[in-house]
Amino acid sequence: MNTNQYHLISDNCAFCNKPLHGRSDQRFCNDTCRNTYNRNIRKAERVPPHQNSKQIFEILKKNYEILKKNSHPGVIVDHNRHQHYAIDDFYATGINTKFITSIHIDEAGDSWNCVFDRGYYMDFEQVIVKDFPEQTDIF
Ligand SMILES: [Zn+2]
Repeated sequence: MNTNQYHLISDNCAFCNKPLHGRSDQRFCNDTCRNTYNRNIRKAERVPPHQNSKQIFEILKKNYEILKKNSHPGVIVDHNRHQHYAIDDFYATGINTKFITSIHIDEAGDSWNCVFDRGYYMDFEQVIVKDFPEQTDIF
C-alpha cells in the first residue's frame, strides 16, 4: 500500500494527534474529536462578559428601584406624577449616577438620563424624574 496517497494534509488527528487511517482529507479520527476540536475553537473565540457586569447590573436594578419609588425624603410628586427633588435629596436616595441604560434628548435639547423606562433631568438645583416608555423599546 502506498501511504503517500493518504493523509496528504496531516497523518495525525487535529485534536488528539493520534495517527489517521482514512481518506487523505481526513482531519480527525472520529466525530468526538472533530466536535471537541470545533467546540474548543468556538470557546476560544467567545468574548467573556465584562468582569464587573454582574455588579453593574445590580447597580442598574437598584437605580431603577430608586427612580420608581415615590417615598424618598424630600421628593414632591406633581399632578403629572413627575418627581421633583432638591439636588441633595436626590443624591441622598443612594442613586449611582454613573450607570444608566440610555439618554433621552427632549424637544428643548435637555438630556434625560434613563434607567430602563425611568429618566431624570438634573440642573444645578433640582432633579426631575419621569417615565420614558419608549426608552425600553428594543426596535
Ligand atoms: Zn482524534
